[in-house]
Amino acid sequence: TKLSLINLEQVKNTAGVPSYPRSALKAGIVHFGVGNFHRAHQAVYLDELFNAGRDHDWAIIGAGVLPSDEAMRAKLESQDFLTTVVEQDINRTAAHVTGSMIGYLRPGDVAATVAQLADPAIRIVSLTITEGGYFIDPASGVFDPAHPAIAADGADPDNPKTVFGLIAAGLKARRGKGIAPFTVMSCDNIPGNGEVTHAAVSGVARLSDPAFADWIDANVAFPNGMVDRITPATGPREIFTLAEEYGIDDQWPVFCEEFKQWVLEDRFPQGRPALETVGVQFVEDVAPYEHMKIRILNGGHAAIAYPAALLDIHFVHEAMEDADIRAFLAKLEREEIIPVIPPVPGTDLDAYFRLIETRFLNPKIGDTIPRLAQDGSNRQPKFILPSTADRLRRGEDVVGLALVSALWCRYFAGISESGRPIAFNDASADRLHAAAARAKDDPAAFLALGDIFGAVAASELFRRRFEKALKTLWEHGTRATLRLYLDNRL
Ligand code: NAD
Repeated sequence: TKLSLINLEQVKNTAGVPSYPRSALKAGIVHFGVGNFHRAHQAVYLDELFNAGRDHDWAIIGAGVLPSDEAMRAKLESQDFLTTVVEQDINRTAAHVTGSMIGYLRPGDVAATVAQLADPAIRIVSLTITEGGYFIDPASGVFDPAHPAIAADGADPDNPKTVFGLIAAGLKARRGKGIAPFTVMSCDNIPGNGEVTHAAVSGVARLSDPAFADWIDANVAFPNGMVDRITPATGPREIFTLAEEYGIDDQWPVFCEEFKQWVLEDRFPQGRPALETVGVQFVEDVAPYEHMKIRILNGGHAAIAYPAALLDIHFVHEAMEDADIRAFLAKLEREEIIPVIPPVPGTDLDAYFRLIETRFLNPKIGDTIPRLAQDGSNRQPKFILPSTADRLRRGEDVVGLALVSALWCRYFAGISESGRPIAFNDASADRLHAAAARAKDDPAAFLALGDIFGAVAASELFRRRFEKALKTLWEHGTRATLRLYLDNRL
């Protein structure tokens, strides 16, 4: 059955469908970046709220700025902006059609986008535009107003091309008409995502109109949020599976895990949907939650990726089924990562980790080791080394965390244990590979990558642990080294 509003009666035989009539919904949110994650997360929470009969004036209008968004818009339009979300747990799968999106602006249509943003009914503008979408300068770690795309929007603020130029233009139109500003809510996976978004919107406005930028700083809310749900990309396999198993012809379904979490700061001056009734946690300060997620979940991914790659393992759940890798992750998290995480309100960190173990073990997700192993030059400094630095500052040992760094170095030598060449996916691959090759005889050569290891490399204890781990990896191999670590003999 082709997914569409008029076919929902038939679709209902195999999948959940909205219990509210589409005509009951009114737009309240414009969302930039209608990718898989948004459709597996925010759109699902809203759909659940609408199904409960609440807040029907908070429906979503999609928006995008990339040419590739047009193809996605066309697919969704052909099915009345409905999406099938297939939640896959280890022994349970369920499909639901979500109806919380009611329209999608044409990418590149500046006039229509700014007019929509200036509509008083729009009270939230949200974003999932990927970590790379925020114009952050890698060297300084802050918003780069000199980026050519941002400079172009600064020079021509009435014809913006970036998300931030469009948001600024929408806010300016509202200010001109005396309409209160919307709240800007980032749902991207970056620490301090509200602050990062604030810097970008205010930063692009400042290029053309400093007084307007000051008005943004004083009047617009940018709440921080922590978002979580493992959501792989959609390919032909997913489209085929949905047709075979559910009889639904959806051009762009989403497959994801059953788990989802959203922790938000409650700063919405123009109001917000009652998301707390569908499981969203509202807190004063999101930072502890973010800290926990990045170090335990993303840090966990960053720890198992390299031993698994060295042992020629392809899927994440297969890595977790390997007893040595699984025990390595558990020992590392319990003995070194979790003890230096500040308390998180209402959260038992060990239970949080046990749940993550289960999530990583989910074979239905089909998450891959190459996906986890990519971009380590950005991920190790965010997900692993802060734990190392915290422990060193407290005078605590770092045997396991130094082993993670050594495994990453051994991986960058470029050959797996069985002699298979490793394909790197990292912007810094060449220099990492060169340093890793030198490190085989001189481990310090890898730690000399100052922009990655920073102050950690100056620690005598860390250097000793890293050197021992790397030498053991080369002499005895990955599995034997993991076992020595597990026996406290590394
Ligand atoms: P996706 O590739 O399905 O969608 C990405 C969307 O971002 C697309 O709509 C694309 O047009 C837009 N985009 C990309 N670059 C952009 C740019 N420079 N400017 C404007 N728009 C841009 O990816 P996804 O799975 O939806 O993930 C998107 C983001 O969601 C992630 O980067 C992450 O921050 C967050 N997230 C994802 C997951 C996950 O498991 N997929 C989990 C938590 C958080």
